[in-house]
Amino acid sequence: MKIFYLILGFFFSISLSFSQSFCTTNTITYGKESYHSGHTDMNFMSETPLVLNIFFHDYQTVTLTEDDYLRAVADLNINYNQFNIFFKYRGFELINGTATPQNDMLNVHIQDIPGGTALNTSYILVSYTAFQTNPQILLHEIGHIFGLLHTFQGTGRTLMTFNNPLFCEFDPVGQLRTEGWFPTFTTNSENVTRNQTSGDFNADEAGDFVTDTFAAYENPNFCRDLTTGDSYYIFSNEVKDNATGVKIPYVDIDATNIMLTVESPSDYPFLRDFTPGQGVRMRETIINNNSVFGPILQDVSVLYDPYKGEYYFAGPLPQNGPPTFQPGFDYRFVECECDCPIPRDYENTNFTFDLSTVIASFDKNESDFASIIHPNHSAIRIVQLDESPIQPRRCYDNFNKAPNGGSVTRFNDGVFNSNVTVTPKDSVGINEPNLIYDLPSGLYVIDKYYDDGSENQTTLIKEDE
Ligand SMILES: [Zn+2]
Repeated sequence: MKIFYLILGFFFSISLSFSQSFCTTNTITYGKESYHSGHTDMNFMSETPLVLNIFFHDYQTVTLTEDDYLRAVADLNINYNQFNIFFKYRGFELINGTATPQNDMLNVHIQDIPGGTALNTSYILVSYTAFQTNPQILLHEIGHIFGLLHTFQGTGRTLMTFNNPLFCEFDPVGQLRTEGWFPTFTTNSENVTRNQTSGDFNADEAGDFVTDTFAAYENPNFCRDLTTGDSYYIFSNEVKDNATGVKIPYVDIDATNIMLTVESPSDYPFLRDFTPGQGVRMRETIINNNSVFGPILQDVSVLYDPYKGEYYFAGPLPQNGPPTFQPGFDYRFVECECDCPIPRDYENTNFTFDLSTVIASFDKNESDFASIIHPNHSAIRIVQLDESPIQPRRCYDNFNKAPNGGSVTRFNDGVFNSNVTVTPKDSVGINEPNLIYDLPSGLYVIDKYYDDGSENQTTLIKEDE
């Protein structure tokens, strides 16, 4: 940051190249104002969940692992689930030459380019360095794909001198800035006023067309502290909008909106939120562009399918590992019971469950991705998709694996009381094919214990033949 003050002009010429390369203007022809109702209030959780496939094409500039893609999809879900928008990880391919995008995917290409570019759903380009270190860049490019414009759309910038210098307590060398950015205007510049009776009100038809994002211009003067994450717009009554009537200073500009751009890569972490109006616009763009998004949209049930591994049914263990789920959601695997050695279909809720008995639980920020496994004898609850009443899905209750031990309890009086004879069984004894056949007549409970810690109990009445 010292350079900023010692050789100001040099710094800004550098930062300009960052800005230019950060986010190339997209060529998307959908998602303009015609698709947007302009609403900024919506009960997102009561709206239809929108689930989209996402796939990665890796041009192998650096070595990435599947955890890198899973991390990216988790970041997307953590930031977009608030709008009932979800992402289903569909894998990756390593590219030697040219990639072939798939029309039923959001196609993310990880390349040796600066910044990122959102051309269309087939070509979402992200720099490999940003992909590894700055998750915000993919959040931002996907925002473009869903019809969001930069919050400062239509208003540029120019470097000028303040009569009254700006003050920022976080600037390491001197807290006064005598130079800074002022707006430059076009016919699409958004005015500050939100008074809809004002002749200067144009927030619904200028800028980014979203009325709950502040009017902005490119690279407003922000005061930012990387250590605390604090970030705010530095007000100056010298920096005013382009109103035809009384020009109004930019009172506030959202300093953390994901649809801002950055002056320096170190600013990426400050981009971390959307407004509700942006959420509405993204949902309406997806829903109103069926020719683009129709093939990419999935039923919500796909989020209850593992992205890798397979369920044990019978016989030897599967070769491909256990059923593993993508990170980024709050999973609660709750105890369930049914005769289902393969998991019930999503639609089939014919099983019993106990929400208070959680066999395995994972937070959306879980970092040990390989641990997110659907355990035997449990159904899947994804908190972000909770229904009312809560309905876990896909009960998996498999007792085909041979038990490793158990016991036979005989009720000597032929009724359930404490007069019992308990015979422990080792793994040979409990798996003895004639175990039940050889029992004398009477009332029994047979307990079986399994390697995964589960137990199964059956009651039987053996009668004389
Ligand atoms: Zn952009």
